[in-house]
Amino acid sequence: MPLDIGLGIVSAMLISEIFSIKISTGLILYGILFALLPDIDFLILSSRNAYQRRDSLTHYPLLYLPLGGMILWLGLGKIIALLFILTSFLHFLHDGIGTSWGLKWLYPFDERWHKFLGRKFGQLKFLASWTPDELSRDVKLQRQDTWFRETHFRPSPILITEVIGLIIAIVFLVFWLRR
Ligand SMILES: [Zn+2]
Repeated sequence: MPLDIGLGIVSAMLISEIFSIKISTGLILYGILFALLPDIDFLILSSRNAYQRRDSLTHYPLLYLPLGGMILWLGLGKIIALLFILTSFLHFLHDGIGTSWGLKWLYPFDERWHKFLGRKFGQLKFLASWTPDELSRDVKLQRQDTWFRETHFRPSPILITEVIGLIIAIVFLVFWLRR
């Protein structure tokens, strides 16, 4: 989660650069909001296992990106819509490489979870893919269904890396604003 906030800040800077607009607090706040928004499903799915947490509309890139982008384009304009698409995509990349089991990248065309550099049944693969059935077996096998608690509520290498990512983004932003 801290890294997502950092990605939101970096996205706002990128969008301001691409469109040659002055970066504003509003743009940065939108970036942070969009970077965290997909994980809102945690509030609904928190009682379930970690892998099921990413099994909702906000973690289906093929549906979420065009749908959200279109609504925002109509409501708030092109720049906010593109910020949404960029930030959400970075969130999905982060979810698809980092912890846990990746995402259902191609849902509704493909029911499988995909993860880059994932471990499937103990074997490291460049692209690991699980059917829902394989995933529940792998979860049991690796006993990682408590990863959220383990990675987010006590210091772990993942959490430390994420906080470092956030700090880098903030330092970058401060220098950016002082240019
Ligand atoms: Zn997520």
